[in-house]
Amino acid sequence: MTCPILPGATLGILGSGQLGRMFTLAAKSLGYRVQTFSPDADTPTGQVADREWVAEYADLDAVRAFSRAVDVVTFEFENVPAETAAAAAEFAPVRPGGAVLHIAQNRRREKEFLRRHGFPCAPFRLVQSLAGLNTAIAELGTPCILKTAGFGYDGKGQVRLRDVSEAAAAWDALGGSECVLEGFVEFDREVSVVAARGGNGAFSHYGVIENAHVDGILDVSVCPSPAVSAQTAKEAAEITRAICEVLEVVGVLCVEFFVTKGGGLIVNEIAPRPHNSGHLTIEAHSTSQFEQQVRAVCGLPLGSTQPHRPAAMANLLGDVWTDGTPNWAAALALPDVSLHLYGKAEARPGRKMGHLTALAETPEAAVGLVRAARGALSLETRQV
Ligand code: ADP
Ligand code: MG
Repeated sequence: MTCPILPGATLGILGSGQLGRMFTLAAKSLGYRVQTFSPDADTPTGQVADREWVAEYADLDAVRAFSRAVDVVTFEFENVPAETAAAAAEFAPVRPGGAVLHIAQNRRREKEFLRRHGFPCAPFRLVQSLAGLNTAIAELGTPCILKTAGFGYDGKGQVRLRDVSEAAAAWDALGGSECVLEGFVEFDREVSVVAARGGNGAFSHYGVIENAHVDGILDVSVCPSPAVSAQTAKEAAEITRAICEVLEVVGVLCVEFFVTKGGGLIVNEIAPRPHNSGHLTIEAHSTSQFEQQVRAVCGLPLGSTQPHRPAAMANLLGDVWTDGTPNWAAALALPDVSLHLYGKAEARPGRKMGHLTALAETPEAAVGLVRAARGALSLETRQV
């Protein structure tokens, strides 16, 4: 990589959600300016950035103007169209590059990439019609999961099938668009490795984070994973490093894995950006995943990923607001609990509004504490 992009320069981020917000906060504490680009106004990122561009991703003239105004472009949202990344790249380096985005934003390309390079993944078939779905089910067996090739996140765009008789309903539910059918993995647990790769090939990661999902949405993460063996953890890090190398990633990338009963690893998906499971690195590690993204895309040395203490993170979905304003004070009264809210106005069920992080002496204790903190949010506010 050429000269580093030094503090004082302006970083551009495509996308404007909570990942961009935490990236921006990290960048600003290092002395950078940040501009964000997305179709929305008053966004989680825009609220903390120096400038918020509001335009469609397909508005390539706006994308070019944005990229002219910044020194490097990164993203927090992988569904940015390939043409958008290409237009941005005319005036500033885009890191990670558009090719990484192109693979990670489409399950078909992602799975084919994994298979081509020999990375372990669930058996899958490309499905383009109901007839094709029936054939694929016959080949893979049930249970299985049908996922749209594009635009899936937080368990959206996927349907589980227990029996071939459910094929037509599943195909209709996903709107008849191109899909991937995956064999169901009877996993023992789910883990992720959040890693960073610098332009000079430097690599760092935060070890194995264990993740529990509810309704297809991440619920609680804990680091280090209390149950994964040292050997499995080492293999997960090696696979992650190899994926970063093959993709020539400059930035942060997360690999989600299934761990089987015997400790075997299957790659579920890759995200070429900071990941929800890595939010706990803000408090738990010397350098957060967001600061690491800043350092990587600016060509600075990667920071230490040394953990301070075991940590756990619990997501706060809009559901937490069902009975009114959550009791923030009750959660924050617990020692070593931190609150992050993303500045979203409307608390819809299933919408990621914020998260809590707890640090403790053991991973198990951190999980207990973060769950207690989230539970405390529904305690009645004491009138004084
Ligand atoms: P998203 O983009 O929504 O995160 P994922 O493919 O990661 O989509 O699926 C969400 C969750 O659904 C996973 O974390 C896992 O719990 C479950 N899941 C997805 N694919 C499979 C599979 N092939 N076998 C078993 N469970 C799966
Ligand atoms: Mg996932």
